Amino acid sequence: MLKGTHLIAGEWIGGPNTFTNEPASGEADEFAVGTVELVDQACIAAEEAFWSYGYSTRAERAAFLREIAKEIDALGDEITAMGSKETGLPEARLVGERGRTTGQLNLFADHIEKGDYLDRRFDEALPDRAPLPRPDLRMMQRPIGPVAVFGASNFPLAFSTAGGDTAAALAAGCPVVVKGHSAHPGVSDLVAQAIDKAIKTCGIHPGVFSQIQGGNRAVGQAVVQHPLINAVGFTGSLGGGRALFDLCAARPNPIPFFGELGSVNPMFILDGALASRGADIGKGWAASLTMGAGQFCTNPGIAIVKEGKEAEAFVAAATEALGEVPAQTMLTEGIASAYYSGRDRIQGTAGVQEVLTSTCDLRSATPYLFATTAEEWLKNEELGEEVFGPLGMVVTVKDQEQAREIARSLQGQLTCTIHMDDADADDARALMPIIERKAGRLLANGFPTGVEVSDTMVHGGPYPASTNFGATSVGTLSIRRFLRPVCYQAIPTSVLPDDLV
Ligand code: NAP
Repeated sequence: MLKGTHLIAGEWIGGPNTFTNEPASGEADEFAVGTVELVDQACIAAEEAFWSYGYSTRAERAAFLREIAKEIDALGDEITAMGSKETGLPEARLVGERGRTTGQLNLFADHIEKGDYLDRRFDEALPDRAPLPRPDLRMMQRPIGPVAVFGASNFPLAFSTAGGDTAAALAAGCPVVVKGHSAHPGVSDLVAQAIDKAIKTCGIHPGVFSQIQGGNRAVGQAVVQHPLINAVGFTGSLGGGRALFDLCAARPNPIPFFGELGSVNPMFILDGALASRGADIGKGWAASLTMGAGQFCTNPGIAIVKEGKEAEAFVAAATEALGEVPAQTMLTEGIASAYYSGRDRIQGTAGVQEVLTSTCDLRSATPYLFATTAEEWLKNEELGEEVFGPLGMVVTVKDQEQAREIARSLQGQLTCTIHMDDADADDARALMPIIERKAGRLLANGFPTGVEVSDTMVHGGPYPASTNFGATSVGTLSIRRFLRPVCYQAIPTSVLPDDLV
């Protein structure tokens, strides 16, 4: 059952002002609006919790993460029903996402138990070294203190209240203050209840987790500016992310803002692959582009192909497949309206041809397909800006040198894809060094939607894909965002942290 309130260090706190969720179906629910005072209370409690939680053992934190996973699983159908009501996402997707969420928590539990993430290094003392002796030096990664997390609209479970950012921070030993996403306050409420139960079962300081619901932009601004917050994990729009990033940078003590923002995820279809299986790639692209109404940060929005008959067959197959996709409900009216503004922008760009057009109502989206030439693309920088939704653009090039020119013109991306046959190896080798500088993940002969949560995953990339190209927000490496190296010089073993002895 919903609480409709904020969770501040173990207390469920309401307030005089309320907002409602925006259900895709069924009755709206009411939630308390967040306040700056609650942000302050949550951050003070998080700092208090750090003095015990930040020094807890890895086994204690692993048990806590597994307990959260167990409690989320126990929410079962209730959470699926609420997720589907608030976001319009299908039940099967939400069930899968619950599995990904609990899987992530369990993965982090295993990861910290192994201990490799501490990156422990030892320089033995050399007392007889001339001209100067070397002291005993040891290094390991330590948690940074309380962190703020902004839930993502498009993953109400796997990238929200107990999603990847929260799991990574808690695994590292950092208390978390969540700013709930206003697109799914009901799911956030239920998940916060699961975390609350896990805190009580494990006997952890309640300040280790707080959640302030939205309904008020001042909450997000206050949390990133709070002096006790040490870093921010964010997934959302370029505009919102940039505004919050700038606030972090302008603080008297600037802090890292790990923002996962927009990406158009280009696909380069090389000549051999286009000739041998262009139509199949076109069909596969249509499926990837429309999955989840195109509301994936890894949605492959742009396909680069060499002009000619093969390109026409690719476009025809993609158009046919896209034309069969029915209207899909979008996460919020705001996201749907941003989708239509993006479409208007592209429709209004000179040199762009509309290949597949459609119509739909306020909160649903149907696919759009546009085409342009490399010359027009290179003249219109804004064609490289993300439209969040099922909208694709084909860019035709005269040859692979021109495809590489497109690659060189790209902004930072989460992913870049190459479709290639063996005969395309020379062109692929020439493209690789260019796209390697542009994206966090490179893939061949596949589609970038579907991000594996694993040790090798990189979900990040140069700006504007993310605000910090040295980091990933998915996979075990994402824990690094919430750690910092500390060197211990000549510290007696009786005083050293247990992990370094
Ligand atoms: P959004 O509007 O930026 O909102 C994200 C969060 O930031 C929400 O909690 C929002 O508060 C808050 N926020 C936004 N602007 C703010 C400001 N100026 N001051 C304070 N708080 C602010 O993004 P969205 O509409 O939820 O998500 C869609 C976007 O996310 C798309 O553009 C997509 O590209 C991006 N995305 C990226 C990834 C990735 O991994 N790179 C993944 C998914 C989505 P409210 O709750 O009050 O709105």
